[in-house]
Amino acid sequence: IWADVLGYVRKNISEVEYHTWFAPVKNLGVQDGSLVLGVRNSFAQEWFRKHYLELLEDALRSLGAQNPQVSFQVLPAQQDALLSLNDPPPPPAVVTAGKPAPVIHPVSTADNRRSLNPKYTFENFVVGPNNNLAHAAALAVAESPGKAYNPLFIYGDVGLGKTHLMHAVGHYIAERFPEKRIEYVSTETFTNELINSIRDDKTTQFRNRYRSVDLLLVDDIQFVAGKERTQEEFFHTFNALYESHKQIILSSDRPPKEIQTLEGRLRSRFEWGLITDIQSPEFETRVAILKMNAEHNRISVPQEVLELIARQVTSNIRELEGALMRVVAFASLNNVPFSRAVAAKALSNIFTPQEVKVEMMDVLRQVASHYNMPPEVIRGSGRVREVVVPRQVAQYLIRELTDHSLPEIGQFFGRDHSTVMHAINKVSEQMGKDADVTEAIITLRKRMQGTEDDEL
Ligand code: ADP
Ligand code: MG
Repeated sequence: IWADVLGYVRKNISEVEYHTWFAPVKNLGVQDGSLVLGVRNSFAQEWFRKHYLELLEDALRSLGAQNPQVSFQVLPAQQDALLSLNDPPPPPAVVTAGKPAPVIHPVSTADNRRSLNPKYTFENFVVGPNNNLAHAAALAVAESPGKAYNPLFIYGDVGLGKTHLMHAVGHYIAERFPEKRIEYVSTETFTNELINSIRDDKTTQFRNRYRSVDLLLVDDIQFVAGKERTQEEFFHTFNALYESHKQIILSSDRPPKEIQTLEGRLRSRFEWGLITDIQSPEFETRVAILKMNAEHNRISVPQEVLELIARQVTSNIRELEGALMRVVAFASLNNVPFSRAVAAKALSNIFTPQEVKVEMMDVLRQVASHYNMPPEVIRGSGRVREVVVPRQVAQYLIRELTDHSLPEIGQFFGRDHSTVMHAINKVSEQMGKDADVTEAIITLRKRMQGTEDDEL
């Protein structure tokens, strides 16, 4: 029954959440009428009690239990489960450790959504300057399929949300028009099915299937390049749908004109509707995506940790989400709070601590918290020693840890570059002589480079 319970759970929470929390759980059997689950540490135990007790009881109820009871037990520490500081960071496998759960297909309320990922909805799509045009076009198409833009062609690099956006249109239409037939297919699948249908003498079924849908989503169409028979078949599918005003959405990693060995007649059809692109998300959008992800997974991660992750992982949203998942898994396995240092440690496969990119504001905040005073005071105009020393320390560290020039640092502090130069010289002189300054620099430097071990 444990497999059934897991199956139920998996349908009701996100993948990230599932892998983070449920994959490592051990079923310890039933004791005194209660299902006992082994978890790794007391943090996880608390977490399960707070967040998953009801879900687990529901799962048992759905399997026929009258009065389901679940309890959690902390497993004895295992050599490999507890990560020591000197160990390398956990390989991704740790996150998904344990038995692979049975593959459960997403619950679908209606049959017309069976090929769609339930998480890829408009609600879950963060709109930023990088994708707002593609988003608006997708929404327009969802609102009036076959009428707004046909076909809609979305292109962009891998991991930027093309598939998500296509599925979102599918969900939107499925909700409003339950009778519409929706088909999502990758170009690879389309090709394979075509080949099989030729082999099995079932090309008529193949054709009927794709030519009778109301919404056709074809992902990664760049893969038709060089496949003549697939292009031929798709050309006819396209025409049949287009002529009966059925909506077609295509995605690709490049615009139609850059797809080599694409038949001219197909290329021109791809250009009939609207071509729109998705670019890499900028910093604020990346933070917003992480924030939404953390919220969905019911994990509270401090803003500064989200920002650190968003600063390190800049191009691909899938990697961005993966990085967050790693940090969450690392912190929970080690039973430590989410801090910059923990995040940097968890992500040290992506960047070495020295490469941790730090911004002036980060440094200022850290210095401020070290000296226990507000950042604005340090940046302000006060001239008493209590403020001047932290200000000099901040300027020194900014110079050391960021790529900013003296004039830029000066501007940040509302001073000129010679003042910054003076501050840096002053701190250099005091290093090794003045205990407080030396200690401050060493502590802060470690913290910002993510190597402060005693935080773990
Ligand atoms: P692509 O098809 O372009 O390679 P995907 O659609 O598979 O990219 O997106 C990769 C991951 O990033 C998915 O988990 C998706 O949900 C997520 N994602 C992409 N764009 C966004 C966005 N704007 N807001 C939220 N999540 C996003
Ligand atoms: Mg995709």
